[in-house]
Amino acid sequence: MNRVTFNIDLCKGCGLCVTACPKKIVALAGDKLNSKGYHPAQVIEPEKCIGCAMCATMCPDVVITVEKDV
Ligand code: SF4
Ligand code: SF4
Repeated sequence: MNRVTFNIDLCKGCGLCVTACPKKIVALAGDKLNSKGYHPAQVIEPEKCIGCAMCATMCPDVVITVEKDV
């Protein structure tokens, strides 16, 4: 499975990765706060990830790393 990891405490909850994901599987965690006080982004259905890295490309703060399955 492709792996998407977030450096949660760098996230500012801007939501750009949420709109960038073609599979609509990235969402802000409404029930969590990071150390900066923002709702961090997370992948809600990792099994649907196609490893396109659009989320990582869009993130202005380099929070996201995508490791594509080979
Ligand atoms: S790698 Fe692509 S499909 Fe996977 S979470 Fe990021 S934008 Fe969505
Ligand atoms: S684009 Fe980056 S900073 Fe913005 S919500 Fe997504 S992970 Fe967080």
